[in-house]
Amino acid sequence: MASLTGRTALITGSTSGIGLGFAHALAAQGAAVMINGFGDAAAIAAEVEALKTKSSAGAAYCPADMTRPEDIRAMVADCTAQFGAPDILINNAGIQHVAPVDEFPEDKWDAILAIILSSAFHATKAALPGMKAKGWGRVINTGSMHSLVASPYKSAYNAAKHGIAGFTKTVALEVATQGITVNCICPGYVWTPLVENQIPDTMKARGLTYDQVVNDVLLDKQPQKQFVQVEQLASLMMYLVSDGAAAITGATLSMDGGWTAQ
Ligand code: NAD
Repeated sequence: MASLTGRTALITGSTSGIGLGFAHALAAQGAAVMINGFGDAAAIAAEVEALKTKSSAGAAYCPADMTRPEDIRAMVADCTAQFGAPDILINNAGIQHVAPVDEFPEDKWDAILAIILSSAFHATKAALPGMKAKGWGRVINTGSMHSLVASPYKSAYNAAKHGIAGFTKTVALEVATQGITVNCICPGYVWTPLVENQIPDTMKARGLTYDQVVNDVLLDKQPQKQFVQVEQLASLMMYLVSDGAAAITGATLSMDGGWTAQ
């Protein structure tokens, strides 16, 4: 794995789950890392300290709310002030809400579109000038198998995740000659708090037990019948960051245990 010494990485939604795994993988290769998201202050501080032990370039936390464009611009400016302009931007923040579309709460629709889709626009817009100035950059958007196919009761999430795939392709074309790649990783179900937290709503929406949701809903369409591991996604992300992946851009790359092969 190529060293990322001298590179700065900014990962949205990285206080837990996939984003936190990405942060640790990037720090382990020497990148300076800024994490973002919500959670227990002491736990987040402990993660920052753990990241600092991996990367001598440093680590920091920014509490920016991805529903607030001004917060997102300030986060990119904060990262630039502390470590230099982000070379690697990972738009990863996400939430879920499960309900039939005719009962879907409007505030949940707005929040999901803001956090998953609009935040990627605002962060990318703020970070691209720095990447263009350096002639090198990596934008990686965390999509989903729901960037490619749908499941019922997830209208906002599916719309936002399909949107991020289109956004990825558009930005990739705009910066194709400037040493910047833009790609979308599309995981199947990964065992993280986001998945765990949607089980009660799915139980309610479909009238199922906990085990039925895990085995018959979540893993029903995942042919390998196993959750994707955060470390596996991190290894794909690290490949996309590497120089070996310089010709991969505008791609939606599935790691879904076979979900979208069906
Ligand atoms: P997670 O709940 O562990 O992490 C989500 C992160 O987003 C957390 O750090 C949380 O604090 C942060 N966040 C939420 N709202 C925010 C806001 N308003 N502003 C800033 N940060 C905010 O979930 P995860 O499973 O690690 O999900 C990460 C990404 O992966 C999401 O985009 C999700 O849609 C995607 N994804 C997850 C799975 C899966 O099975 N877990 C599958 C496909 C795609």
